[in-house]
Amino acid sequence: MKGSCLCGRVTLALPRSPDYIHLCNCRLCRSSGAAWGYFDPAEVKVDGEVAGYSREDLDDPWLVLHFCPRCGATTHYTASGAHPLDRIGVNTRLFAQDEIDGVGVSYRDGRCVFDEDDEFIETGTGHIGDGKAF
Ligand SMILES: [Zn+2]
Ligand SMILES: [Zn+2]
Repeated sequence: MKGSCLCGRVTLALPRSPDYIHLCNCRLCRSSGAAWGYFDPAEVKVDGEVAGYSREDLDDPWLVLHFCPRCGATTHYTASGAHPLDRIGVNTRLFAQDEIDGVGVSYRDGRCVFDEDDEFIETGTGHIGDGKAF
């Protein structure tokens, strides 16, 4: 499946639909407007120039948001160099609606993905809670 940013200068190609779509409530995700699908980096082909941004209000941000420098649409995120992850997030809003029809939506609490001992947890019961996880 193929998607593109609003102006069409950046295109993304995926070999399959995402397993689910993640609507995250952390500050980074809410500000980006993205609805994430997760993929192995090798599965995602991005063509076109993208710009990157990591949060400047964090000492050690985990993620780099990528977006089209012309139209501003968020295209995907990658892990920062200091925090390698085995997946990247792709903004499924850039794909035709009929391509992702039927894919379930997850509302897990992204503000709380690491607890106070830096243990990864998958539900919203952690202690970060300040919207600064990423
Ligand atoms: Zn664009
Ligand atoms: Zn998030």
